[in-house]
Amino acid sequence: MAQAQTAEHTALANGFSLLIDGAAVTGTGERLDVVNPATGEVFAHCQGASRAELDRAVAAARRAFPAWSARSFEDRTLFVKRMADILRANAGPLAELLTREQGKPLSQARDEINRAASQSEGMTQIPIRNELITDDAERRIELRYVPLGVAGIITPWNAPINLAAGPLTSALYTGNTVVLKPSPYTPLCTLRIGELIRDVFPPGVVNVLAGGDALGQWMTEHPGIDKISFTGSVATGKKVMASAAGTLKRITLELGGNDAAIVLEDVDPKVVAPKLFFAGFVNSGQVCMAVKRIYAHEKIYDALCAALAEEARKWVVGDGLDPATKLGPIQNRMQYDKVMDLLEDTRRQGARFLAGGDRPARPGYFMNPTLVTDVDENSRIVREEQFGPIVPVLKFTDVEDAIRRANDTRYGLSGSVWSNDIERATAIAAKLEVGTAWVNQHRTTAANVPFGGAKESGMGRVYSELGLKSYMEPRVVSVMKRL
Ligand code: NAD
Repeated sequence: MAQAQTAEHTALANGFSLLIDGAAVTGTGERLDVVNPATGEVFAHCQGASRAELDRAVAAARRAFPAWSARSFEDRTLFVKRMADILRANAGPLAELLTREQGKPLSQARDEINRAASQSEGMTQIPIRNELITDDAERRIELRYVPLGVAGIITPWNAPINLAAGPLTSALYTGNTVVLKPSPYTPLCTLRIGELIRDVFPPGVVNVLAGGDALGQWMTEHPGIDKISFTGSVATGKKVMASAAGTLKRITLELGGNDAAIVLEDVDPKVVAPKLFFAGFVNSGQVCMAVKRIYAHEKIYDALCAALAEEARKWVVGDGLDPATKLGPIQNRMQYDKVMDLLEDTRRQGARFLAGGDRPARPGYFMNPTLVTDVDENSRIVREEQFGPIVPVLKFTDVEDAIRRANDTRYGLSGSVWSNDIERATAIAAKLEVGTAWVNQHRTTAANVPFGGAKESGMGRVYSELGLKSYMEPRVVSVMKRL
């Protein structure tokens, strides 16, 4: 076993390189050891980028910008389409690598890759048109949209492929060139994609650098980068904003959430429970827009608790490579310790466990799916973003009180309302202080629909015309027709 792991480790270590100016480069920065969260063992490593390699990547992206931005949208769409085809053609091995480094079950890894491909293609269907503001005998005033230049993209570890593909496509389709950095916990899939698309794009258009948090900070400070697309935690998002201020970079921040689902008294708990459970526990709850708090009307509260607990028993916990697995490990040790700490705090508060509260006896960062109730509204499990497989179920009597509690948070990513009375549910959803309020669904996004956070869940939007235009500068061309 140890020997097999060593052989695999060596093979993988040789297989990953950075992409700078169209060339595969072995980084000379910090070495990143990549842990398989299902075993807790290092299974591969790669070399991160040094500051000089970042400078080279930025210089290459700047050189590539004039020719790339001069191409038409139609032309750039063809490149994105080729990238999407490559993602689909390599979905098998990429999904396996994603499961190894990230932990999610293989079927969810495949979904992530297919989603990355289809959302990328979807975004290139969105036309970006210049707008004619005035055109009369005297004046013609036009609003044009021009690409910003070099986009720096920084991604987290929970969905490294999908969260890279969105900003990557947005930047490229709108005429920008890119320097992309994945999380040090999950660098491999992103580096592999860099290798796969190396010959697709002209040199310098896409550069991929692995590296730790310091590399991210260098990117946010770098005078050669015009925009930062950051997906990650609120705390780091604030640092990115402060650091980007030095050069007044444009920024898009996609940060954390503490999404509430409000379940009204008219639903059948057995119908709603599987949907809510999936939205709370897919990818072991490590989803920015996961259901993180469930508010259930007192009339259906007991039945919903029972139906959710029943669902928890169906979710097989294990290594994501095993096809029977529905719930993989927590992605890394730091996050595992954080979730365990929350679990212990919740236990100390006297919570009632509807399901879970323990971990399977095996190595790796596993935890059984856990549902808790009888918790105080001010407890950490309600106030904080857990980002793990533990969700509180809270009771309400008056829906206005549920809305107030749902909104009583610094987060504002998304939320949902569940009911057979669509009109009432829609009116309630519209009162949620969030970027996306769903009715009878949660976690649904599309290439043509803006997504992003209100309050401290972020700044700006991804996807949609709104998201694409955040990679462009509006430029007014105002013409007086006579001298
Ligand atoms: P994180 O903030 O720790 O790290 C994210 C990325 O930022 C990594 O690549 C990291 O190396 C880099 N980084 C760290 N310090 C930096 C700095 N000072 N300057 C620049 N870059 C720096 O986040 P994480 O733990 O990897 O991800 C989990 C968080 O991401 C959760 O809060 C989750 O809700 C959020 N998230 C949000 C969305 C969304 O779309 N809103 C999507 C997925 C995840």
